[in-house]
Amino acid sequence: MNRTLEFAGTVRHDGRGGLVDDLATLDQLAAWTDVRPVSEELRLRVVELRRAVRSLLAHAVRVGERLDAPHLMPLGSALDLVNDTAARVPRAARLEWGEPVRLRYDDRAEAPERLLADLATAAIEFLAGDERENLRACPAPRCIRYFVKAHPQQQWCKPSCGNRARVSRHYRRAHD
Ligand SMILES: [Zn+2]
Repeated sequence: MNRTLEFAGTVRHDGRGGLVDDLATLDQLAAWTDVRPVSEELRLRVVELRRAVRSLLAHAVRVGERLDAPHLMPLGSALDLVNDTAARVPRAARLEWGEPVRLRYDDRAEAPERLLADLATAAIEFLAGDERENLRACPAPRCIRYFVKAHPQQQWCKPSCGNRARVSRHYRRAHD
């Protein structure tokens, strides 16, 4: 999956009207990334960056009110945070002439800074790229996921969301 959508998807609905966060504890952060050391400071920065990325996704698809709406930030703040985070790890392209010829990116960052910068850069590349055209907010009840349409008929982030939406439509019809 697209790294930005995978990152954004670390917060999701819990099926009961609330949210569940896969990055709520240090242990969860350590399970999610290979980067070491993990710290509470890093976790809070990752979560703040995710808030900014989700705000940009919401803006890109002009999504209406969803469960995570209270956690979104204004466009300007989200842009600043994502751009500043990416800029904190300047990197230089380096050509290595061998078999094969290789391009490497060099930087002097510590692993935690690089994680943040990589996540921010991935979001910038995704949102500035062609895939943004097919970005959608899943319209299923309670779902707060984003997805890139894989085919023109795709309406839901995954089939279970389509099933849930159908069930809820039936339920509403039966009880009106
Ligand atoms: Zn969904």
